[in-house]
Amino acid sequence: MYEAYLRETETNREEITGLSDEIWDYAETAYREKRSMKALADRLESHGFKVERGLADIPTCFIATYGSGKPVIVIQAEYDALDGLSQESPVTEPKEIPGKTTGHGCGHNLFAGGSFAAALAVKTYLDDGHPGTLRFYGCPAEEGGAGKVFMVRAGLYDDVDAVVSWHPTDFSMVRTRPSLANVSVKYSFKGIAAHAGGSPEKGRSALDAAELMNVGANFLREHMDPAFRIHYAFLDAGGEAPNVVQAKAVLLYLIRATDSREVAELKRRVDRLAEGAAYMTETEVKIEVQKAYSNLITVASLQKVANEALQELAYPVPTEEDLRFAKELQKTMHLSEEKLAALPYELGARQPIPPKPHGGSTDTADVSWIAPTVQFHIGNWVIGTPGHSWQAVSQGKGRFAKEMMLYAGKAVAGTVMRLFDRPDTLEEIKAEHREKTKSGYICPIPPEIGPNVPEE
Ligand SMILES: [Zn+2]
Repeated sequence: MYEAYLRETETNREEITGLSDEIWDYAETAYREKRSMKALADRLESHGFKVERGLADIPTCFIATYGSGKPVIVIQAEYDALDGLSQESPVTEPKEIPGKTTGHGCGHNLFAGGSFAAALAVKTYLDDGHPGTLRFYGCPAEEGGAGKVFMVRAGLYDDVDAVVSWHPTDFSMVRTRPSLANVSVKYSFKGIAAHAGGSPEKGRSALDAAELMNVGANFLREHMDPAFRIHYAFLDAGGEAPNVVQAKAVLLYLIRATDSREVAELKRRVDRLAEGAAYMTETEVKIEVQKAYSNLITVASLQKVANEALQELAYPVPTEEDLRFAKELQKTMHLSEEKLAALPYELGARQPIPPKPHGGSTDTADVSWIAPTVQFHIGNWVIGTPGHSWQAVSQGKGRFAKEMMLYAGKAVAGTVMRLFDRPDTLEEIKAEHREKTKSGYICPIPPEIGPNVPEE
């Protein structure tokens, strides 16, 4: 089905792969994705999309719209890169690009290109007289910036009927796995400095307070839900001089639980540890939320439509040269003998597996509370490629990675067109989503905290 429309991804191949390469070259990090955003938004505009830029108080956030009326279906794209991952592409050894400090270690250049491909295909479908609105959401700062949480808070998803998204990885399947809600909190202790040998009685140690808080957290673990997580790191241990009573110490906590309500309750208990530690040591503590994500709501009836669209597609076939490149790259990945002897790419999409709980978190989760959301995992990368690695950056301009990007575009477009075509199925999907979210969405980020956009 929909072959004529899906062929648009092939017709526009040069433009789509060119866009992905261009964004790979820019490799701009969270909230700094100006050129990447412009490249994407300008191209959509030139294809007749109406573009609004700088939404949700974020200069690099945009929405491109095509068509009109109901339903409103959203395709998402991300385009931010990571620091510390300067790397050439496509090569099979670690090789920095002189003068460059960033790289697309999460494959978001492919993400943007694949979603652009999907938008072009769905556009031709709408041009054929089908009713409905396609919106393309340019989502900044997925890497540590919680960009979509602010987009949700600004109401950008309020009238959306469904969201279809995807992400590069090393296999292809509809995502069924939920994710945990989390919050990261900074605890800054302030004490009084003193000579630790000469006048220790005059000092009040912030480091002692931080250590006592961590001891408390380690005892707390026995009395919380074992599926929940508490991790911590020292941002500042007060200095390097043991003969000074440390007047400051800063901890960063990451608290995860099944949903935002459970996270809020666990954070309340962790806050008490901080306050108790400050009380014991006669120091002060300042508690600041840094960022937070909700848990991901999965909708089986929507996954079913997405899987139908995915399974129908012909799977791209790697060339001899693709396989040679992949095998060389795998040698740098510490894989088992068994994996090294097998083919370096999967040759078909997997059937979805029953969901297992997952310890990670994502900002698409907040979107999933507002509108039914489905994501594809797509196998752009060689089997075994770690996320956020030089090997991932190195595949960003690779031939097979881009072939799989076009495949991702077709999977997304095929899903969107089915949703436009099947109003009854869309109603079922929305009913399932309403049932799963009836406890109500709570924005996990306090109102006084905004996106961390750098000053000009
Ligand atoms: Zn990513």
